[in-house]
Amino acid sequence: MTQIRDSIELDFCDVLFRPKRTTLNSRQEANVVREYKFKYYPKTISSCGIIAANMATTGTFEINDVLQKYKAITCLHKHYDFNKPENFGYITQNDAKPESAHNAYTFISTGLRDDKEKLFALLADDHFKIDKLCVDIANGYIPKLTEFVKEVRSKFPNLLIMVGNVVTGDMTQDLILSGADIVKVGIGPGSVCTTRKLTGVGRPQLSAILECADAAHGVGGLVCADGGCTCAGDVAKAFGAGADFVMLGGMFAGTDEASGELIEKIIQTDELVPSADNPEVSELLTVKKKYKLFYGMSSQLAQERHFGGMACYRASEGKVVEVAYKGSVENVIQEVLGGLRSTMSYIGATRLKDIPKCTTFYRVNRQLNEIFGKS
Ligand code: 5GP
Repeated sequence: MTQIRDSIELDFCDVLFRPKRTTLNSRQEANVVREYKFKYYPKTISSCGIIAANMATTGTFEINDVLQKYKAITCLHKHYDFNKPENFGYITQNDAKPESAHNAYTFISTGLRDDKEKLFALLADDHFKIDKLCVDIANGYIPKLTEFVKEVRSKFPNLLIMVGNVVTGDMTQDLILSGADIVKVGIGPGSVCTTRKLTGVGRPQLSAILECADAAHGVGGLVCADGGCTCAGDVAKAFGAGADFVMLGGMFAGTDEASGELIEKIIQTDELVPSADNPEVSELLTVKKKYKLFYGMSSQLAQERHFGGMACYRASEGKVVEVAYKGSVENVIQEVLGGLRSTMSYIGATRLKDIPKCTTFYRVNRQLNEIFGKS
């Protein structure tokens, strides 16, 4: 018989942090960098836990170059060919100056449809010293994924492996016990994702993070909240719910370092101004605005650009949007980390790791005053 779970499932917009008496006098006292230890990967990483999504638009070398200065991570998209010298050079470890290595905060990505032998050769190649892999598929519940994780773990015992996506504790634990260090959480929350519309499958992201984080931590693993963050406050809420890492796509889109051309458009505003031809007459003001294209990795556009077209058994589960140009990605990461520090000072968390311990959420039915629009 069909079952209905009628416990309340929550999204970021359904909660707000309860402020608490704090020992912090200023947001500057909040430390947003945490030392991460892993179940399998033997090294410690010092990071702010923010990860750029491995989408063709945001998993770029250019975003990586900026984010690593903030100890933020980039999951490179899987369409870089590392046999090409320019790409090979980027990812190659500089033994003389290991601290300047591009791959200190860099994951490479793979799906299950990609060339396994090529991937294993890359991981085994000492020139690259790639030690972080993101295995990314839309439906993390298929047995082939678990088998693949087991195989990669047995071949590369010291690799940092992040795997996804799932939204339930049972599968989170399965993947960790199969060899994942980090499990990616999120089905359907992404800004350019249409999975929920197409399939009716998904789970509100805050509840998914709460359950998966608890399950992961119970068996020594970590979780990365993937998708659905629209602003710095959402990132803080993801950490508050127990996420160890937070992956962002749409928030990093539209930046200089995201891939794609700038599109310029003349937009009509709702402001009336005297007409240039006849000042007696008013007309609507027009302005020039810049945009960048951002698309889901299952969108028709992505399939055509990166996979040689849409296979007939697939349907598009992503959309294409024009994102208002934001300047450098530096603006975004600074705002996210600034917001996070401020959250921490409101709730009394001195360290990033303390955020969940200091979190009490209010369930709300209205989180924003939108009298002057949604921003
Ligand atoms: P955002 O930060 O934009 O809300 O979410 C980014 C995440 O959306 C990505 O990391 C990935 O998990 C997911 N995503 C990216 N492209 C697609 C797509 O075409 N379809 C679906 N279902 N999810 C996508």
